[in-house]
Amino acid sequence: MAPNESNGCPSPAIGVGPSYRPEAEKPTATVSRKVDQSNVHILPQTPQLIALLTMIRDKDTQRADFIFYSNRIIRLLVEEGLNHLPVVPHTVTSPVGKDYTGVKFEGKICGVSIMRAGESMEQGLRECCRSVRIGKILIQRNEETSLPKLFYEKLPADIKDRWVLLLDPMLATGGSAIMAVEVLKNKGVPEDRILFLNLIASPEGIKNFAEKVPKVRVITAFVDQGLDDKNYIVPGLGDFGDRFYTL
Ligand code: URA
Repeated sequence: MAPNESNGCPSPAIGVGPSYRPEAEKPTATVSRKVDQSNVHILPQTPQLIALLTMIRDKDTQRADFIFYSNRIIRLLVEEGLNHLPVVPHTVTSPVGKDYTGVKFEGKICGVSIMRAGESMEQGLRECCRSVRIGKILIQRNEETSLPKLFYEKLPADIKDRWVLLLDPMLATGGSAIMAVEVLKNKGVPEDRILFLNLIASPEGIKNFAEKVPKVRVITAFVDQGLDDKNYIVPGLGDFGDRFYTL
């Protein structure tokens, strides 16, 4: 792995392509940084995922494509998130009269989106979990103090009995997501029943998150190089909410 230096933080670069293709024929691409925190699960850095991320990182990608390719990554995150939910043994009989020993999901789930950008991930969750309940939390940063403030929350009444898939596409400083986890904990949701799904994380956000809410599992597609002086993720993709909803 050759290091790729940007912003003072090295990111690994690897040859990307199917395993049967010789290394010399694979284009080199930057892949996710690895992290030490055991609560963080980074999606496999497959050629597909890297190509999808390349599309949404491009400043010239138009909104329709941005939505389409983001949705594909969101779907991968939801599918991976569901792998972290408990299953119990379940045997069924097939149409040819033979038993198949399998499993089925145990426990109820719900989604909680951190508004506004997190709402973009609701459709991907609904595609995998029909009629899933989805709560909302609105947290905004005070422009002067830079501290996050809770403005609104509407959550399923029985949320403490559910596994929660917390949705926000960008984990920058982690301030809003940590406050959202505190809201859920105050409603009685145990930390270890929260899965935080996000597309791109910063190392700073990952560290902050692991220090404050270490039992929350973070499922991310990519850990980027860092934050700029405005707390945008670099190289990142700009403002996710603007690109998905308004630009
Ligand atoms: N939120 C975004 O939309 N983009 C960033 O880079 C950081 C936070």
